[in-house]
Amino acid sequence: MSIRVTIWNEFKHELDEKHAASKLYPEGIHQAIAKALGTEVDFEIRTATLDQPEHGLTDEVLNQTDVLIWWGHKVHHEVSDAIVDKVINRVMCGMGFIALHSAHFSKPFIRLMGTTCTLKYRDANENERLWIIEPNHPIAKGLGEYIDIPCEEMYGERFDIPTPETLVMVGWFKGGEVFRSGCCYTRGLGKVFYFQPGHEAYPVYYQPEIQTVLKNAVRWAKAERIVDEVECVHVDKPLEQLV
Ligand code: ZN
Repeated sequence: MSIRVTIWNEFKHELDEKHAASKLYPEGIHQAIAKALGTEVDFEIRTATLDQPEHGLTDEVLNQTDVLIWWGHKVHHEVSDAIVDKVINRVMCGMGFIALHSAHFSKPFIRLMGTTCTLKYRDANENERLWIIEPNHPIAKGLGEYIDIPCEEMYGERFDIPTPETLVMVGWFKGGEVFRSGCCYTRGLGKVFYFQPGHEAYPVYYQPEIQTVLKNAVRWAKAERIVDEVECVHVDKPLEQLV
């Protein structure tokens, strides 16, 4: 059975000619990720961006999405609360949600976490060593002991998130900080993964090991089934006789 993946991107930095992202990702980060995931024959991939009607996340699209990937940075506040409500509802019903890099401050991720999701950051062209600390987790499949990322924005602790149900990866940066870089949660019937790498000014999403993480995360986040709604049901008849 195929996995229906929607890659959402605010798609702003890449359209700014003065920004490094316009050279690195001329068609947008969403298209680079779509191309990377496109090697998986069972993935049905579509993309959506902020400036499309309903941010590209119409009811039809959301209802046909098993896993939603989210990249945003500059204009989180421009995302409509009504669309965020729909995204959250779909996660409660079982849709997987993967928040990438600066999506730590996206409306849906903050709602799903229930905390501020603040962190430390520094953009100083430093390298990151991303340690895989749960090698038997499905998201770690095919990876070694660590991934070296030549250039990445530093994200450091404390990251104000709830304690992850499974912490799959810890990032270490040249400047000395560490970060919970691969965090798994369950929210309602849906699975949520936060993945730290992916600053728009560095070619992180072209790195094969990073692409492997994204593919694994999609497979992990896909629910066995997604319900139409999570109902609160009054039960008239007990299964067993009460008296
Ligand atoms: Zn960044």
